[in-house]
Amino acid sequence: MKITENRRILLADDMPSIHEDFRKILCPILRTNNLTDIEDALFGPTEKPTVLEFTLSSAFQGQEAVSMVEESLRQNTPYAMAFIDMRMPPGWDGVETIERIWQLDPKLQIVICTAYADQSWIEVFSRLDARDRLLVLKKPFDPIEVSQLASTLSKKWQVTEEAEFKMNDLEQAVEERTRELSDANIIVQNSPTILYRLRGEPTFPLIYISHNITKFGHNASALLQVSDWMDILVNDADRSKVVTSMARMLEKDAQGASIEFRMHTGDGGQRWVENRYIPVRDGEGKLIEVEGIILDITERKAAEERIAQLARTDNLTGLANRATFTERLHQAFAAARRGATPFAILYIDLDHFKPVNDTYGHPVGDSLLKEVSQRLRACTRDSDLVARLGGDEFAILQGEISEPANAGALATKILSNVALPFVLNGIEIRISASIGICPFLNESAGADAMVVQADLALYRSKEEGRNQYRFHSNELDLAVQERVSIGEDLKNAIEHNELELYYQPQIELSTNKIVGVEALVRWNHPTRGLLNAGSFIAIAEKTGSIVALGQWVLNQACKQMRLWRDSNLAPQVMAINLSLVQLERGKELVRNVIETLERWHLNPGDLEFDVTEAMLAQMTWTRNGVIPQLRELGVKIAIDDFGTEYSSFNYLQAYRVNHLKIAQSMLRDASIDPTSANTIRAIINLAREAKIGVIVEGVETEAQHSFLSSTGTATQAQGHYFSKAVNVAEFSELLQQEIDAHVNYISK
Ligand code: C2E
Ligand code: MG
Repeated sequence: MKITENRRILLADDMPSIHEDFRKILCPILRTNNLTDIEDALFGPTEKPTVLEFTLSSAFQGQEAVSMVEESLRQNTPYAMAFIDMRMPPGWDGVETIERIWQLDPKLQIVICTAYADQSWIEVFSRLDARDRLLVLKKPFDPIEVSQLASTLSKKWQVTEEAEFKMNDLEQAVEERTRELSDANIIVQNSPTILYRLRGEPTFPLIYISHNITKFGHNASALLQVSDWMDILVNDADRSKVVTSMARMLEKDAQGASIEFRMHTGDGGQRWVENRYIPVRDGEGKLIEVEGIILDITERKAAEERIAQLARTDNLTGLANRATFTERLHQAFAAARRGATPFAILYIDLDHFKPVNDTYGHPVGDSLLKEVSQRLRACTRDSDLVARLGGDEFAILQGEISEPANAGALATKILSNVALPFVLNGIEIRISASIGICPFLNESAGADAMVVQADLALYRSKEEGRNQYRFHSNELDLAVQERVSIGEDLKNAIEHNELELYYQPQIELSTNKIVGVEALVRWNHPTRGLLNAGSFIAIAEKTGSIVALGQWVLNQACKQMRLWRDSNLAPQVMAINLSLVQLERGKELVRNVIETLERWHLNPGDLEFDVTEAMLAQMTWTRNGVIPQLRELGVKIAIDDFGTEYSSFNYLQAYRVNHLKIAQSMLRDASIDPTSANTIRAIINLAREAKIGVIVEGVETEAQHSFLSSTGTATQAQGHYFSKAVNVAEFSELLQQEIDAHVNYISK
């Protein structure tokens, strides 16, 4: 704001002539406009001297001057200055008048007018003590002195006023700004938003964080003093994500960004936060600081999660819905294509669900669907996805299956579980289900094609009588059903006494004598007849029956060894096959071996365990110490099927194995292929050097026998050429014959 000029002047003097003089000086009569115009017309516009015009108020006595000042202030038209005569009889003198005026208007500038010293100046000035507003004008005065004083002081008044005004203005602005800042601070402290600043260099030290970080249970000043604020605030799982996005700020053209992470709270909990930040750069684009805000988005996250959950699930049963099923199926398909463990889809439809709905009403129908859902869940593993596709249709994405039979086993479990009675509102309801299965196979065309096939299989299972499952192909149906039923039957085989051990002799080639015997399990299946190990061992391994089966074999073989020992028929060693599952439960196996040996009074050296190279490799990899423990006991170890896998001598030496058994397939090749023959020779020689015995398996022909004899080393062999695996009676017979032959030989 501009202060208007103040040309009001007060003159206090008892002499009227002085007033007139002042008026002439300060209020000159201006020439009329007409004259100015004529002059301009004659001589052209010229610069006119500025004539300052003042408004002069006259007071003839001190009292009068004081009341005029008072009045001027009331009217808000203060004087810019006053000329006060020193002597104004009969009233107050100048000094008193000034004192009183200043009581009213301390800022008023005053010129004391005096002809002679009524008082000494020092006294006057010490009484008045306001040198910056007090001047002296000595009479007789020159008009120019008066006009100069008037002009200068009125100008000074204006400047002072303006300065004061500006000062007030400034103070007010400062006050306002301070108030704004403190308001802003209150807003910041109360807002859910946390502000922070980081220095723009790794490790991004924290240089400011708003006090309201206390909401998260942290202390702002404590955080500023530590260098590992990141560790304190950011959840471990999100840290690398946060570090990466911060590091991006160092790139010259990086813009602000936003990142969500979980923030540790002081009480050990965590909140989801959104961190929005911008880089602050210098003229060259170098990062100086990072400024950001942190918002608590925990509630939003939870809401999003709830919404997503709703979008993913079926309202009635809480199972996954069709959309989720389809999405996960496509993911599983892509993963399996890349080599992940295969999976299977099972389409499940309840049989005769509609009559339940019609007879008992929808609420009961709904309850039934919920109960069925729970049973489906109970039948599956966490890694499986159970979905309701709509109505009474369900689907399962069965993860990580090693063979189609796993899907058949799950289907069998589901069928029997769904068939158990449901009790709803006191009503007992029985229902069954039909299932269509499509396992992922390498030739599967695509996820959607699998759905079509599962659907067709479901249709087939309905067509063919319901309450059953069908695979998408006939052959698979038969194969799987057989495997599944064998697996089921196997569970009872031991209890039903259906297992039997057959024995195959191991012959010392140089003497043609039985030096060992391999126990091979057989199953007298009630409907399928005598089954070789090859047709059920793999199933036993998959279904877990192998553990009990293995124990049974061990016990039975040892028992038989004891019987032969007691009748002096026993060969030197009993070979028993072990499966990976048994080795994996190493402690249990070792304990079992010790107990069984004790039970039948046998020595550990009476037993030799057949394990494959693959099993040894697995044991090494998982650092399972079972083989060394068995060796420690004194039990022998033979490597079965040598030549079909790694054919590495490393394992043999590392585990100090006793025998390696050359696979039948190698021997078969040897008779037609000279390279294979040489390989066998080489293996036998290497083994001899490593002091490992060799047993050649599956010797069937005379040609094979003579080939082995030609190697000229003390090798053992087994195979149909000598004897098939035979039952205990027949094997005892073999042993007996051998003894008889020996006796004959000696007696001859
Ligand atoms: P393996 O240890 O290689 O056993 C040899 C298999 O070859 C036996 O079949 C045997 O009957 C058969 N065989 C022996 N000589 C000849 C021959 O000259 N020609 C032909 N073609 N075959 C011959 P099996 O009994 O069916 O056993 C198959 C596999 O099952 C065994 O292979 C072994 O790995 C496993 N196995 C057998 N019994 C048991 C057992 O009690 N426990 C475990 N875990 N596995 C067993
Ligand atoms: Mg074997």
